[in-house]
Amino acid sequence: MSQKTVNGKVIFVGAGPGDPELITVKGSRALESADRVIYAGSLVNPELLQICRPGTPIHDSAHLTLEEVVTLMDEGTKNGETIVRLHTGDPSMYGAIKEQFDYLDKQTIPYSVIPGVSSVFSAAAAVRREFTLPEISQTLILTRLAGRTPVPEKESLAKLAKHQASMAIFLSVQDIGSVVKELLEGYPASTPIAVIAKASWPDEEILLGTLETIEEKVKAAGIRKQAQILVGDFLDPANGYARSKLYDPTFTHEYRQGTAT
Ligand code: SAH
Repeated sequence: MSQKTVNGKVIFVGAGPGDPELITVKGSRALESADRVIYAGSLVNPELLQICRPGTPIHDSAHLTLEEVVTLMDEGTKNGETIVRLHTGDPSMYGAIKEQFDYLDKQTIPYSVIPGVSSVFSAAAAVRREFTLPEISQTLILTRLAGRTPVPEKESLAKLAKHQASMAIFLSVQDIGSVVKELLEGYPASTPIAVIAKASWPDEEILLGTLETIEEKVKAAGIRKQAQILVGDFLDPANGYARSKLYDPTFTHEYRQGTAT
């Protein structure tokens, strides 16, 4: 005799960088509909949990192993629950989601992903900068320093620095000295760098400097975690930058006839 199963599902939701208004409308609706929520308590703003229906069971994954998280998903979805797994920023950056997907695939538990505003974009907003300035850089590298989680040698910060592209470095501010040392393998010492701690939170902090000055500033401010390190000439282009073609009156494109002949 076949056992009757009611199928629930798991929705991975990007919570955004901190400000509870920076979750997407779709993510917020998923939280409203959730029968159970598993959230990354170390970084997700708990204010977001107020969106849930009163009495919704909430689990802080900071205290759980992968096995415990997927057991909750397994048991909940067997009871027909919609489970929201709330990750900080956008789940696809350092979210450890693939290992959860693999488990759900194995168990044939359906899941979907709702993206979020990554802290990298919240940090750029905080300093009011554009990563992609014409003739300065058209590339943004998202990376981290090797820590307890290794980084493949071919992607070492020193190697990536050789591109002198715009760069955002996650998970590394606690070792700002090593970050600067590796960056100096590729960028000139006068290159601007910004450290944005707790972007979009009420206690957000912004430090601006160069590769020569930033280490001292970070240490003086006592910033040891939850910060983005942004580096590159996009922060302060010493010799200016080229204006966009798209909005240049002489330039013709699909939607507009320019004045140049
Ligand atoms: N998925 C997240 C990143 C998780 S890894 C995202 O898309 O933002 C955690 C790292 O993200 C932290 O070490 C820090 O480098 C960065 N981070 C997370 N929230 C932040 C915030 N509000 N301000 C600055 N950096 C933040």
